[in-house]
Amino acid sequence: MKKTIGYTDIDFDKPGKQTGFLDLPYSPHGDAWGTIRIPLAVIANGKGPTVIFEGGNHGDEYEGPITLGEVIRDLDPATINGRLIIIPAINLPAVAAGTRTSPIDQLNFNRTFPGDSLGTPTQQISAWVNDNLFPLADAFIDLHSGGLSLQIIPSAIIEPAEDPAHLQRNIDCAVAFGAPMSVVIGNRGDPRTATASAVRAGLTSVGTEMAGAGTVTIEALALCRRGVRNVLAHLGVLPQAAKATSNAAPPVFEIPDRGGHTLATVDGVFEPFHELGTKVSAGQPAGRIHCLINPAQPPTELRYGVSGVLYGRRHPGRVTPGNCCAVVVVPFVAP
Ligand code: CA
Repeated sequence: MKKTIGYTDIDFDKPGKQTGFLDLPYSPHGDAWGTIRIPLAVIANGKGPTVIFEGGNHGDEYEGPITLGEVIRDLDPATINGRLIIIPAINLPAVAAGTRTSPIDQLNFNRTFPGDSLGTPTQQISAWVNDNLFPLADAFIDLHSGGLSLQIIPSAIIEPAEDPAHLQRNIDCAVAFGAPMSVVIGNRGDPRTATASAVRAGLTSVGTEMAGAGTVTIEALALCRRGVRNVLAHLGVLPQAAKATSNAAPPVFEIPDRGGHTLATVDGVFEPFHELGTKVSAGQPAGRIHCLINPAQPPTELRYGVSGVLYGRRHPGRVTPGNCCAVVVVPFVAP
């Protein structure tokens, strides 16, 4: 293992089921020689591929961590061919607080890759994942939901890759998840996400968006549970029979870098005009922002930037300029 800060008693080469922790030394005012204890499990049997499952990248997204806890408790190693490395609450301080960002250093874990082993705790965690886990694995599955600020259509997320064959691996794996739709999300080329870093390391990399709004959605949790098994069957870790039947070839969309996000332009309360899944067109009003402290002021209209399907919407009513109010996806066309 690379010399990064953090240690674990788990032996990644040992067959069977091991549960334990990554202990990240953390020495705040009240705990001189303490650690941040990040749950870690390895379930291994046979010579099949190694798959990393991550939950708790953001601490206010719950379907993934719930599902991965169940996998850790319930999956019998004898039933698999391969190795699962499961980190269900990777940014532990954020998960414990139920917040998107870490309460320790205020960082968004998913904007810290490839990490910094000499940096803040969140940067140290991403360095540990990047430097120690990615080299062990063939595939990386990052289970997100919309989080407190977004409502989103439950979907599998495709990380872009420059190599067409690698992109196709990501697409095939995301589609195998069995969500009603898959979406390519490139975050405008931002290289600091976990899945972007995993792609650079050569791994098949997919994610999810499971509803959101800081709650647990029954439908999204059922999809997440099914999807994890589907992906394991697709990758050959579980037998094909473990795959739940799903619609053949669900559509693949993408969030366009230009026009896909409708942002708030003024302070106030956003009134949306459409439910998720609605077909919308470029220039059509998406909603309006009301100034509740000045009834004399008419509301400010926001418009969609592209024609497509309304995929995500801001959850809290209050907005300030730059807040993402609506997300529209368009059919994906491979470059
Ligand atoms: Ca997220």
